[in-house]
Amino acid sequence: MSNTMPPDVPFPNSPVMPQQIGEDHVIQFSCHKGIGCWNACCANIDISLTPYDIVRLKTRLGISSTVFLRDYTVPYEIEKDSIVGVKFRPVENGTACRFMQPEGCGVYADRPTACRYYPVALLSMRRQDEFTDTQSYALVKEDHCKGHEVDRKLTVGEYRKEQGVDQYDELARGWRQLILKKKSSGPAVGAPSLKSRQLFFMACYDIDTFRAFVDSSVFKELFELPEEEWKQILSDDFNLLQFSFRYLKQVLFGENTIPLNDAIARERREKWAKRQEELEKEAAAKRAEYERQMMAEGINEEDSGLGFCQDESCGDKKS
Ligand code: SF4
Ligand code: SF4
Repeated sequence: MSNTMPPDVPFPNSPVMPQQIGEDHVIQFSCHKGIGCWNACCANIDISLTPYDIVRLKTRLGISSTVFLRDYTVPYEIEKDSIVGVKFRPVENGTACRFMQPEGCGVYADRPTACRYYPVALLSMRRQDEFTDTQSYALVKEDHCKGHEVDRKLTVGEYRKEQGVDQYDELARGWRQLILKKKSSGPAVGAPSLKSRQLFFMACYDIDTFRAFVDSSVFKELFELPEEEWKQILSDDFNLLQFSFRYLKQVLFGENTIPLNDAIARERREKWAKRQEELEKEAAAKRAEYERQMMAEGINEEDSGLGFCQDESCGDKKS
């Protein structure tokens, strides 16, 4: 089963049909128990999860997001050296979904967005000169899936309604926008720092850790919201998820919608700058001490392997 968000142009042998389709496009498809390929799609999975998928599944399983991420998922790079996504981890030494059962999906009512959409792929796009993202779709035709041979016709819009994806799309929209923003910001913006990537991962996927992070005096001192609004944000995972997207848009892209306490922000910036200065001084002192030791032992920088040749033509300076 393919995941639902492959926004890049499909590869030549991809089962994703090279045609963008809209809500009114009529497809021929039916998946039902008794079909010859029953469970074939769940036996070989490559399923990306949205933050909303994770909240639904961890709630159903009665575990924390941290445990869910550890036991049921693997991280992957949505974009090289940049944004991280999360995929289902298949069964040990196999390719099948952990929730696949002979009678079908073991978490059917909370199955992820990708499983709901299949065999339709969601293409979420945003032009650089546009502020909002637009959705279109593509059809996925894999040889093993016999659902395309069943004579049942319906539009993509009807199929989306039948599969209940509206709510799933709506509650993951902020996450898709963040990914599109990063992708469309181009290489000039540079790779996000490790700290930014960790923050993105926590806020998008590990909602229970993010809750503890938000519900702390350190966080609430910095971001000034009325007590009622904090209560509402922390009242359930879905509200918190929407706040996490808002927070990431602010800290990663400078879209300021959460009022900051300027004095505290300044104080923390100064503290951070001071700490950086101290670290640089410590590094310089270590370097000076190392050089002093080398000089005392009669080893010059060249011999230590730390030097570099000023003459680009010389190649190996020790030769
Ligand atoms: S979650 Fe359910 S529908 Fe999705 S791959 Fe697993 S068993 Fe199949
Ligand atoms: S018809 Fe397609 S989606 Fe349904 S069980 Fe078969 S392979 Fe899976």
